[in-house]
This record gives sequence, structure tokens and C-alpha cells, in this order.
Amino acid sequence: MNTTVLIVGGGPAGLTLGCSLARSGVAVRIIEKSPEFPRGSRGKGLNQRSRELLAGLGLDEELAAVGTEHIVLRKYVGGVPVEDSRSGDPEAARPGVPYSSGLLLPQWRVEDALRGKLAEYGVRVELGCELTGFTQDEHGVRATLADGRTIEADYLAGCDGGKSVVRKALGARFEGETAAEEMMIIGDVEADGLDRGYWHQWFGEGAGVLLCPFRGTSHWQFQGAAGTDERGRLPEPTLEVFQDLFDRVAGVPGVRLANPTWRSTYRVNVRMADRFREGRVFIVGDAAHVHSIAGGLGMNTGIQDAFNLGWKLALVTGGHAGPGLLDTYEEERLPIAAWTLKTSNEGLRRIMEGAGEGRFGTDVGASAETSTLGVGYRWSSLSGGAGERAAAGGGLAAGDRAPDAPCRDAATGRPVRLFERFAGPWHTLLGFGPDSAEALARAGEEYAGPLRTCLIDGGLDGLDDHEGHARAAYGMESGGVVLVRPDDYVALRLPGDTGEAGNAGEQGAVVADYLRRLGR
Ligand SMILES: Cc1cc2nc3c(=O)[nH]c(=O)nc-3n(C[C@H](O)[C@H](O)[C@H](O)COP(=O)(O)OP(=O)(O)OC[C@H]3O[C@@H](n4cnc5c(N)ncnc54)[C@H](O)[C@@H]3O)c2cc1C
Repeated sequence: MNTTVLIVGGGPAGLTLGCSLARSGVAVRIIEKSPEFPRGSRGKGLNQRSRELLAGLGLDEELAAVGTEHIVLRKYVGGVPVEDSRSGDPEAARPGVPYSSGLLLPQWRVEDALRGKLAEYGVRVELGCELTGFTQDEHGVRATLADGRTIEADYLAGCDGGKSVVRKALGARFEGETAAEEMMIIGDVEADGLDRGYWHQWFGEGAGVLLCPFRGTSHWQFQGAAGTDERGRLPEPTLEVFQDLFDRVAGVPGVRLANPTWRSTYRVNVRMADRFREGRVFIVGDAAHVHSIAGGLGMNTGIQDAFNLGWKLALVTGGHAGPGLLDTYEEERLPIAAWTLKTSNEGLRRIMEGAGEGRFGTDVGASAETSTLGVGYRWSSLSGGAGERAAAGGGLAAGDRAPDAPCRDAATGRPVRLFERFAGPWHTLLGFGPDSAEALARAGEEYAGPLRTCLIDGGLDGLDDHEGHARAAYGMESGGVVLVRPDDYVALRLPGDTGEAGNAGEQGAVVADYLRRLGR
């Protein structure tokens, strides 16, 4: 079978993109230079938005079963406990937001789950396959591997991490700096004798040691910061060095660190590419941007890049949109990368300044923004038209994250969340009230691409918004339609009372026209 999209790199970004494409039936291959799957905990948290998007792939329960929602951070200064603070707020779940917190889990768990999903689509990661270069022309891409083989594909996605070969071959600039502030030794170890109910964070003598437990394993992620030698070098991340630092900073007698399954050094780089695409080649995730781990945005930004690109590549390669749609990947995600660098820099600054003022801990670097629930694309060329004008007075607008809402199946009374209706590689057209049924029907007749419709409070065919949460979240008390993108952002919002395209049949035609013109 011909390869439509070749994905280089089997980390979280590449695997997410693979799932997003494979579920649309796109012929995809994923090559990974490592001979085996990594087992390091690395980026150890999914934020709320990533959880929502991965739930759309059907991974919600599997991930929740191996992650921790609300962990207590126990902080010590000079060996003395000074503060317990809980991550996330268990009371914070709202009708429009299904998850009250992110999920703490090692990165390899996320990768395992994504690989399992890919296997369901018949795709397996090809280990030991290293890309060394590629050429492209108007017909496709020819990739060269280290063993001399070549792979031809219509498109290539470089999800090959911070040292990306693909980014370098594209000639994209990777501007920024290697900052001195955030450097540590890091690893996964056992630590007998420590209470696994806490993420322990010890500070003192200008150093810090953090041990974060992982549910369902006997391991903890060790992070140790104690500066560098006179030549700016970090110590070797050996078990002995971990133990010495632990004894010096934590000073908990009898705790022995053991059985390291991963050891590394970490030095913050704050850089982003000046472009994310050249012709048929894209860069995604760390290949396009790297930054401080403050706020835990690394893996999440790559996952969200991949969702953004996935549906666009699927529509274009499936013949349902013009190639211009692919321009909107960089248009939408490059400003988000810049925002991510700024947000994580601010988090790192708070951590550094906080330490000088007696405020310690990883939570100092997080903020409400790091949930990325507020990230959206109002400025995007995909978010224009009547929807944006209709929302000019405030409230939900085209480009915003599409909210969830608890509803009921109108025929059976079974509880159904709106997110369940969005889950899949299609646009979803929500119609509010019986009058919108005509708009849904007309859009479906006039657009031949992947589109699902969902009638709310319009009869036994659809959903019953019995508590009014859906109408309130979408500002649709007077009826109307909302088109939701496959990555769960609002594409178009046409309230019934705008006087503009207010007629239900006309609204259906506006939606079909928007979809037919995507990228053309
Ligand atoms: C030591 C360390 C600690 C970290 N800690 C945190 C943290 O606490 N919180 C957080 O949010 N983030 C953290 N991160 C960052 C987070 O791990 C990354 O943001 C995330 O892994 C990015 O995912 P990705 O898929 O873009 O790239 P990666 O996970 O780097 O995956 C890229 C993949 O591409 C493969 N590859 C590279 N070149 C080639 C090639 N030429 N051919 C084929 N395959 C190739 C690599 O082997 C790799 O598997 C950490 C990273 C490191 C290295």
C-alpha cells in the first residue's frame, strides 16, 4: 500500500498524529530510530485539554486507570515539612469541563496507550528506522533511512524531538536560548520507606530534590537540582549521585534509592522554529518548540499540535478539502508555541523568584492557563464569518474550545455527553431546537465530506439538554447551529436570532459552503 503520511518519531506527538490519521483511514507509517520503546517517565502529566482530546480517541478510562488526578505536594525546607498543597481542585469539574484536573502519569504510559490504539488501526511503530534525509517535489516526498532504504509518501511529519533532523533539513531557524536556570539530574527509581501518598519536594542549601510516585508502579520520578561544577557541567546521573543529593537535601534516614530504570540530565532550552512547514513537510511537537518544564506543557503542546494537523491532513488527502487547509496548521500553532514559551518562562521565573522568597515547589510554576482549556484560534482564517460577528458582544466565539455538556439521549434517557458526539474524525453540526433540524438536513445534503449532525432539544432523534447546560455554554437559548471542528474547536456559530443567515435552511447552506470551501 502506498504511504500517504510518513511520521518520523514515535514519541507522544508522532503517536498522536498517527492515531488521528489512522482513525480517518489515512495510510500512515511511523518510523522510530530507537531499537526499543523508551521507558523514561519524562513529561509526567497530561493537562485537562490533552485529556479531553485523548478521550476522543477512546483512551479516557485506560489513562485514568494508571494516572493520579489530585496528588498532595508535601514540601520540606531543611528537612522539615512546611506545607501540603493539593494539585488541582476536586470540586472544579463543571458541566462544560469534564476533568477537574490533569492526570499525573509517566510519559511511557501515554505512549503505551497511544501505541495500543494504533495497533487497533493496524499500525505499528517501525523500530530501528532512522531518517537521515529527504527530498520533496510537487508529487511527494522521498525519505532516506540510515540503512539505505527509501520510503515514498505524499506528506512527511517530523515528530522527531528537539534535535529534529527534519527541522534542520527544512532549514528552519530554531531561535532562542539555552538558559542556565533550570538544570537537573533526573531518573526513575525505587525509594523504599517513603509514603507514596505524596509528591515529596525537599529544598535547602540552594538545592532541591523531588520524588514523585507513579500509580501502579513501584517507581518514583527523581528530580535533583544542585547546580553545576566550575565548568558548568551537571554531575553524572548515577544512582550514587542521586542518593548523595537525597541524603544531603532530604536527610530522611533509612530511605535507599534503588533499581533505576531511567537516568538522564535535563537542561532547559527555550527555542521555537520560525516556520512549521515547507511544502509537503511539517514539524510537530518538540521538533517545532522546546521550553521549560515549568507548568508541564511539553508533551501536551505536542499532542495538541498533532490533533490540529491530523484532521487537516486527513481532509486534504481524502479529497474533502483543498491543500490550502494545511497552511492553517502553522497559522494556528505557531502563535500557540510562542504563547507556550512565554507561559512556561513566566512559570520558571515564578519558581526562581519564589525560591528567594521562601515559596518553593512545582505548583508555583503552574497556573490556570497551563490547563490549556483557554487556548483557541479566534484570529484564525478558519474562525471567521457570521460566527465571530455574532459573538462580538462576548461569550463563545468561533475559534474557541467547544465546551462539553451533560445531556440525555432523547429517545432512551441515557446520559450522553456532548464530547461523546464530537469523538471522531468529522465536523459535528449541533442544531438547537426543532427549527434547526432543517439546517442539519440541508448541510448534510450539500456537503459530501465527513460531517455528523446532532439535534438538541429537537425531538426524539437527538439529545435532550434537560438542564440547559448545552444551550447556556453555546449561547443558543434562541436556537441556531454551531459547527464544531474535528479537534473540538468552534468553527462557525450561527445563533437563530442574529437576523443574519437566521433562517434554518439558509444556515444549513452557510455551513455546507464553509465546509466545501475549506482550503480551496
Ligand atoms: C530528560 C527530560 C525530562 C523531561 N521532563 C519533562 C517534564 O517533567 N514535563 C514535561 O512536560 N515535559 C518534560 N520533558 C519534555 C517532554 O518529554 C517532551 O516535550 C515530549 O517528549 C515531546 O514529545 P515529542 O513526541 O515531540 O518528542 P520526543 O518525545 O522527543 O520523541 C521524538 C522521537 O523521535 C525519535 N527520532 C529522533 N530522530 C529520529 C530520526 N532521525 N528518525 C527516526 N526517529 C527519530 C526519537 O527517538 C524519539 O522517540 C522532558 C524531556 C526530557 C528529555
